[in-house]
Amino acid sequence: MSEITHPTIKDGWFSEISDMWPGQAMNLRVNQILHHEKSKYQDVLVFESSDHGTVLVLDNVIQCTERDEFSYQEMITHLAMNSHPNPKKVLVIGGGDGGVLREIVKHDTVEEAVLCDIDEAVIRVSKKYLPGMSVGFQHPNATVHVGDGFKFLEEQKNQFDVIITDSSDPDGPAEVLFQKPYFELLHGALREGGVISTQGSENQWLHLSMITKLKKLMREVFPVVEYAYTTIPTYPSGQIGFLVACKDSERNVREPVRSWSREEEDKLCRYYNQDIHRASFVLPNFARKALE
Ligand code: SAM
Repeated sequence: MSEITHPTIKDGWFSEISDMWPGQAMNLRVNQILHHEKSKYQDVLVFESSDHGTVLVLDNVIQCTERDEFSYQEMITHLAMNSHPNPKKVLVIGGGDGGVLREIVKHDTVEEAVLCDIDEAVIRVSKKYLPGMSVGFQHPNATVHVGDGFKFLEEQKNQFDVIITDSSDPDGPAEVLFQKPYFELLHGALREGGVISTQGSENQWLHLSMITKLKKLMREVFPVVEYAYTTIPTYPSGQIGFLVACKDSERNVREPVRSWSREEEDKLCRYYNQDIHRASFVLPNFARKALE
């Protein structure tokens, strides 16, 4: 069998070169390419790195590494989940690696967790190569729908307590997930007091003007919208942010309305805790001013 090659990998190093972050590129040393295919929607690459574990790359952009998965997947999930008093029915749009689903089902309140990803290939390769992440798919309360998140939401009215958008970059199939009509669909699909969080690589310091625009659009739909961020070494800027919004104008999402005990936090999470929930909304001056 011939060895798998990929244009982003040369001399044993993967380079994440993109116009979305001009003049810089994250490099990871590659031990072995495990999988490559062109799915109906995107280029899907999985490789084993020398120091970051297995890495999932879509359209030449790092989605997650085994080493860095905890910060963003715990944060995007628990910031929203712990801003809701009793989340029973939860939806993930995107998130085909299964990591967000894995975090959602840690909450005892959850009776139903639905994931809608456009690309079956991401779900399939994650189940095969990222077992620690895709473990959430095995939970009895989890169901999977393969299809476009925008279209799926058009059918959902007043259904969910929390919706988490864990999408890829807006220059591919995720483009529709960064626009006002999508935020309106999210609002309509939520029950009273519902909460959302969103992530996509546009949510980083390099794209502060884009975050400002997204926050403004979201504010036209939701009465409460806040920006939080977490560190993540393999993303450009070394961080990624989340817009967290709520239908209830009285809710303060910066403060968890529910929290685990310290012991439970230690058992359940590697990154998230109630202090970091609060701290993640505290922004550096340049970002706070831009987002005011
Ligand atoms: N947080 C990661 C990042 O940006 O680096 C993203 C992780 S997750 C794998 C992104 C998922 O969004 C992919 O599996 C992709 O197939 C899915 N996706 C993109 N556009 C979508 C759409 N319109 N509807 C549903 N899922 C979508």
